[in-house]
Amino acid sequence: MPEPGRARPKPTPETKHFWDGTREGELRLQRCDACNTVYFPPRPFCPACASRTVSVFPASGRGVLWSYVIHHRPVPGFTPPYAIAVVQLDEGPRLMTNIIDCPQTPEALRLDMKLQVAFHRLDDEITLPLFRPAE
Ligand SMILES: [Zn+2]
Repeated sequence: MPEPGRARPKPTPETKHFWDGTREGELRLQRCDACNTVYFPPRPFCPACASRTVSVFPASGRGVLWSYVIHHRPVPGFTPPYAIAVVQLDEGPRLMTNIIDCPQTPEALRLDMKLQVAFHRLDDEITLPLFRPAE
């Protein structure tokens, strides 16, 4: 997991910097130059103050497990059970992802456990930011 057949994100002009980043091994976030809010998902204006003066920067790739559900039904590209997780990044924003290299059980998936990004290449264009327990 993940496996072939998984739904594939479609980059847009607003998300191109993000997918370019994951392909190059960087988790890129945006920061508002007016109020310093760091945000995700990508958009061309600040969600806090609506400024369009925003910058892209590489995040640390570190965070903690904020929430998850364990999914038990088969879905193309996944072998159940698997966790659909929300990771709280060290920079502040939260990101929905999957946790790999870890049993998909409540005993192993502890809230607030430290995680690090693991880039998973789907094809030439898309590399997914998954997360694994931090070393
Ligand atoms: Zn702002």
